[in-house]
Amino acid sequence: MDIPDNVKKILKKIKKEGWQAYLVGGCVRDLEMEKTPKDWDVATDAVPEEIQKIFPESFCNNEFGTVNVSGVEITPFRTEEKYTDKRHPDKVKWSKNIEEDLARRDFTINAMALGADEKTIIDPYKGKEDIKRKIIRAVGSPEDRFEEDSLRMMRAVRIASVLGFKIEPKTSSAIKKNSSWITSVSKERIRDELSKAIMSENAAPGIELLRELRLLEHIIPELLEGYKVGQNKHHLYDCYEHSIKSLDYSAKKGFNFHVRMASLMHDIGKPRTKQGKGEKATFYNHELVGARMTREIMQRLKFPKKDIEKVERLVRYHLFYYNVGEVSESSVRRLLRNAGPENIEELLQVRYADRVGSGCPKAEPYKLRHLKYLIDKVSKDPISVKMLKVNGQDIMEMLSLKPGPAIGKILDILLGEVLKDPSKNDKDYLKKEIERINVLTEKELDKKAEDARKEIDQVQVKEDKMTKDKYWVT
Ligand code: ATP
Ligand code: MG
Repeated sequence: MDIPDNVKKILKKIKKEGWQAYLVGGCVRDLEMEKTPKDWDVATDAVPEEIQKIFPESFCNNEFGTVNVSGVEITPFRTEEKYTDKRHPDKVKWSKNIEEDLARRDFTINAMALGADEKTIIDPYKGKEDIKRKIIRAVGSPEDRFEEDSLRMMRAVRIASVLGFKIEPKTSSAIKKNSSWITSVSKERIRDELSKAIMSENAAPGIELLRELRLLEHIIPELLEGYKVGQNKHHLYDCYEHSIKSLDYSAKKGFNFHVRMASLMHDIGKPRTKQGKGEKATFYNHELVGARMTREIMQRLKFPKKDIEKVERLVRYHLFYYNVGEVSESSVRRLLRNAGPENIEELLQVRYADRVGSGCPKAEPYKLRHLKYLIDKVSKDPISVKMLKVNGQDIMEMLSLKPGPAIGKILDILLGEVLKDPSKNDKDYLKKEIERINVLTEKELDKKAEDARKEIDQVQVKEDKMTKDKYWVT
């Protein structure tokens, strides 16, 4: 077991002052599972004022009397009294013993304490055994515990997803039976647990478990509209199943939160737009309807505005049409403008997830690589005289010329030189060069301009070749 030195020091210091000190909750569970804990929580019989006396630099930051000592949270033993609203204890009561503190925790695997000697494990609910069996089990009566704080139902699913555990049958039937209690919980708390489930590798089985335990119908009922709603000849799975499979691909690939959410939501508008039956069913505008539904769902769950905007956009543009040779550069430019250049990578990831989620084995590697190439190409400025440090106006003023083909020829000659040696793109140098070109005969000027044009074209072709090589396309 690897407990960091600063945590050990804190435990010892509390003990030295005559108080009890234990590591509790997630960190004990993670240590037992030989995983590195995310954060370290300490429980003690000292009350907040006494903890603060031991650590003068600390600060007390919440209603539960948690004292923060350089990132380690120290909380007095608690026992909880009544919950009348299924989410907040009416009153938090300090306790003098660790057993009472463990009794108010949610699941057996989260209700273990490790003594300051780093050896004594207090495990009254056999959490260690449940870890071995990979089981989430409520501490005490599941129904009572879920009635006290109904978020625990969501936490059971989230922790099961993150750890890859199963929920023990009595605990899961209590969830299924009382799932509507989740509506009494604040949207922010639901959102946070949902996000953690989505960010786990088991995101897809997690959403499936939410459905089976009847929590999904209270959180994102829109997803269930697609349950057993068939698609058309391009799809193996029904709408709901397809969403789950797409999310699964995104999660397994380690894609970010926005891509995972968009993978789950991209076809959420299909049931409402379905027309016709069987092989010939259509879903016109489902991406528009879906984008609006996505926004409503995420707003309802109190996601931050920037997350909502991003996911909404990914859903809105997930359907972009692309076939090598069929799509023009201008339509790729339009896609870039609409979806936003900064979202393109994620949009492509959603498309891969969509593709794999429809039961086709491949994520269209060539086609999408070719699209990436075109995106890169149209995103780059073409080689042009606009890159020069002098312009046509400068030339006309210097040589007292009127607008005409000669100006273009001079610019081409200058560009040809600069492409060969970029250091020549310097205003003073170019001005001297303009004077040298000015003494050429018309024939000499034409010849030089023609050579320059060839040079420019060659560089453009070479650059395009490099971009193509980058994406492995021909
Ligand atoms: P994570 O690794 O995701 O942080 P965690 O188990 O540490 O998992 P936290 O939300 O940080 O989860 O909670 C810390 C501990 O507090 C839990 O292990 C559990 O003992 C207890 N706990 C948290 N939320 C509840 C709750 N709603 N009801 C009862 N106990 C809870
Ligand atoms: Mg934690």
